[in-house]
Amino acid sequence: MKKIKSGILGVIVGDALGLPVQFKDRSWFYKHPVTELTGLGVFNKPKGSWSDDGSLTLALAASLSKGYDPKDIMDEFSNWLFYGKYTQDDQAYDIGQTTANAIMNYHRGIPYHKCGGKSYYDNGNGSLMRILPLVFYLRVHFGEDFTTKPYAMGIIHEVSSLTHAHELAKMACGIYLSIANELLQSQDIESAVKQGIQKALTFYISDIVFQKVKNQFHRLEDLEEFRVLDESRIGSSGFVKDTLEASIWCLLNTNTYEEAVLKAVNLGYDTDTTAAVCGGLAALAYDKIKLEWIQDIHELSIVNDICESFEHSLKKEEAV
Ligand SMILES: [Mg+2]
Repeated sequence: MKKIKSGILGVIVGDALGLPVQFKDRSWFYKHPVTELTGLGVFNKPKGSWSDDGSLTLALAASLSKGYDPKDIMDEFSNWLFYGKYTQDDQAYDIGQTTANAIMNYHRGIPYHKCGGKSYYDNGNGSLMRILPLVFYLRVHFGEDFTTKPYAMGIIHEVSSLTHAHELAKMACGIYLSIANELLQSQDIESAVKQGIQKALTFYISDIVFQKVKNQFHRLEDLEEFRVLDESRIGSSGFVKDTLEASIWCLLNTNTYEEAVLKAVNLGYDTDTTAAVCGGLAALAYDKIKLEWIQDIHELSIVNDICESFEHSLKKEEAV
């Protein structure tokens, strides 16, 4: 429970580090490596600003504080898109196409479970970047072995499907939360990542729905081989498979939260999301984020309030 705020801040700080340099290609970072939290840049936002990654993560946490209701999650996503809720300046920005399409579908009256994009081209990282808070909810309601429970895994897939309904995006979310779950109960990062991947893959290999995508993450099966892959073999585009792989690769090749998220940013391209996704895991792994970076998060009280109410609601449910 104590790691809720750490994990969510891990996403927020990663997002803020990558945001000013989003879309720049990898070669640019060889000459201009990011080493600190900055501002302005691509979206001209103040230092310490989070984007869609942070906002939708906060929206999910706020909704889960009221219990699990996928329709309510979609309502909170709509509040972000249309009214700028969960942002620092009341304006949603850096909005992914698949996410925008799904929320617009919902706005047009389509039921929430039919709004998400189902095609292969809908496999951006838009659901992966906001899924982290769900691990805390699942551990309280289904236990630390939730990856063995089809109903619990179904909740992960349902939350992804609100916007990203293809099996690949759903599976990426499942693997990610399985790793997060193991990091919450182990001191040894490499073995936690390995366990998390293996437990998730065990689920997906036996589930008929995921047969067509089950081999997409084959590089994660031999983690030692994966860890030593050259950086040139690690993608950092907005494709969900790239983002999941890159976040794991950065975590395994560094020794602190700061090193992990900066490595993710310096891979270039979708810098904010790669660092946000990596940051969620790295914060759970190390439970220590550079204090100056946390203090420099613009409107930090928004994050604190949502984390506290999420923690409070889960504690209450745990006690029932
Ligand atoms: Mg973003």
